[in-house]
Formats: sequence, C-alpha cells, structure tokens
Amino acid sequence: MDELLEQLVNDCMGYTKEGRVASYIPELSKVSPDALGVYMIASDGKHYGAGDHAAHFTIQSIVKPILLLQALLDNGIEFVSARVGTEATGKPFDAINVSEQRLDSENLNPMVNMGAIVMCSLIHGDTYQDKIRRVLELTRRLAGNREIDIDEAVYASEKAYGSKNRALAYLLKSYGLLEDPVEDVLECYFQACSISVTCKDLANIGFVLANRGRTPGANERVVPAAYTQYVNAILMTCGMYNGSGDFAIRVGVPAKSGVGGGIMAVVPTRMGIGIYSPALDTKGNSVAGIQLLEKLSQQLYLSIF
Ligand code: GLN
Repeated sequence: MDELLEQLVNDCMGYTKEGRVASYIPELSKVSPDALGVYMIASDGKHYGAGDHAAHFTIQSIVKPILLLQALLDNGIEFVSARVGTEATGKPFDAINVSEQRLDSENLNPMVNMGAIVMCSLIHGDTYQDKIRRVLELTRRLAGNREIDIDEAVYASEKAYGSKNRALAYLLKSYGLLEDPVEDVLECYFQACSISVTCKDLANIGFVLANRGRTPGANERVVPAAYTQYVNAILMTCGMYNGSGDFAIRVGVPAKSGVGGGIMAVVPTRMGIGIYSPALDTKGNSVAGIQLLEKLSQQLYLSIF
C-alpha cells in the first residue's frame, strides 16, 4: 500500500502546477504550492503515508464537520437542523437562478461559511473562549492527538482580513439567524479555521466518521453513530462546495476540503484519508488532492456508488 501511495504522489505531483494557493489572507499565500502528501488509516488498524504527509497546515473549512458535530452533541439533530438546513443548493426544482433569494435557514447548510458561522453560535459555552476550547478538545479527541493547537499567525490574518466573513455574519444577524454578538461568533469561527493539523490528523478524524463514531485502535466512542451518519450525508452532497457533484462522480465518498489545501475523505466502514496539497482550483479545492483521490478510488474501488 505504501508503494501505491508513493506512486500516486509521483503521478499527481504535476497537477500542483494547475492550481494556486489561497490568497484571500496574506498568511496562506506564503505556503509552497508544490507540496503533496497523503495519509491513510484502514479498518485493520494499519497506517500508510507518502509524500509531504507530515507537513502542518491549517484545517480551514475541514473544521466545519467538527463544528457541526459539536453543535449536534450540544443540541441534538432536531434543534440543529431547524436552524441550518441540509440541502446542497437550497433552491426549488424550478428555481430561476437570477432571482433574489430570501435568506432563511433552509437555504443554508453547515458546509458553507454562513452555516458554519451559525454552528459556532449553537455550540455551548459561557464565553466564546469556552466554545473554541470545546471545539479544540473535540478536534483533539477525533484526531487522537493532544498536541493539536491554533496557528496564531493564520488566526491573526483571518481576523485582520475577514471582511467577507464579517459581511456574511452581519447578514445572518440582520435576518435574525444569529443570536449572539457578531464579533464574538466570528472569533470562534476564525480560531476554528486556524487549527493546525497534518494529513494523519485528518485521516484519524475521517476514520472516526467512517467507523460510526469510534476511534481506530482503541475503538473508543467519540460521537454517536447517528451523528456520523448525519455529517457524512452532508459531506457527500456539500463537502466539496460547488464541486461536490463532480467529486461524487470521480471519487464517490464523503469528503471535506479546506483552502489550507487539506482534504479529509471518509470511506464508510473502510478507512479515513488525509490529503495535503495547497494549490487550489477556482472552487477552493486542492487540484492534485482530488486527482490523487480519484486514482486511489479507482485502484481500491472506494466509490460508494
Ligand atoms: N477561513 C476560510 C474562510 O472562511 C475557510 C474557507 C475554506 O476553507 N473553504 O473563508
């Protein structure tokens, strides 16, 4: 398996030239665009890795399923789904795309920024420091890594250049979808996006989602199986943003991307996979990362379809 992964890294390295690293904040534009790494944890407990799998990068949007899990643990499915919907487009079957859409919770999902910002407000905690501490703790438990922490430089950059996310949050507030003060909610969101991880961390988190809520090895329960089913379904339909349909065809497993260059893939009952390659396509997904996952899926028959 290690050989197969090495081979795939070599085969896909060239695709890093076809993307660009995220530049919406200065701190992310500093990374080297040609890195590519993969780490895999299989259901027999074996670990495999190749390429730049030990590199640290920020989790970015891959924290969205973790925010959703924490909100579910704190409030249950009924409460959460009433506040942020689960539909990929949020539009009816005969929608005319040019029309102005009303913003309501049914038209959001937890994998886009607005939905994830609402998740931050649903997570329990007396202060926003408490909330982010609980998100960090859940991330460490899912990844089986106590050392996971926030990248302070990326966090400072997110906060300083977060005008778009601020605009989204104020819009949510004006539609009555956010109860708490906007800047407090954003504090949690910016810090959550800035959690520093490796491919191995993402593979571990993906494994728990693939294994109905239990960790590899110790088989310890971190979250109820019903919540992994909820999260995986949303990852399948919304996890790669407006590239989710194409990804479902080419790779065929629930996954989440982040603009830091990570992809976490969940192969139900079989494995968790973590990818790092920071050159992104125009939708914000890792170009070489998707190529590698597509080839891996073909070789190991991973598609659930
Ligand atoms: N921090 C990023 C943002 O909020 C996360 C987006 C992403 O990873 N796609 O814009």
